Amino acid sequence: MVCFCFLVDQTRKVRRSKPAAGICSRCGGGASVADMKTATRFCHVPFYWKTWRAIICTFCGAILRSYH
Ligand SMILES: [Zn+2]
Repeated sequence: MVCFCFLVDQTRKVRRSKPAAGICSRCGGGASVADMKTATRFCHVPFYWKTWRAIICTFCGAILRSYH
């Protein structure tokens, strides 16, 4: 039996971000509005990706709010 789970992975990238009002609930760091890109890859070949906007912490990277 072959398990394909090892062949599929996801990468998340921040394409660009700019400072936003608000602080992180985890570490108290500054928040920023970021355009995120999530790519789902099969054998390291992207076959599905989407872009979405989120408010993330610039210090610890926590996602404080997302707009899917
Ligand atoms: Zn934080």
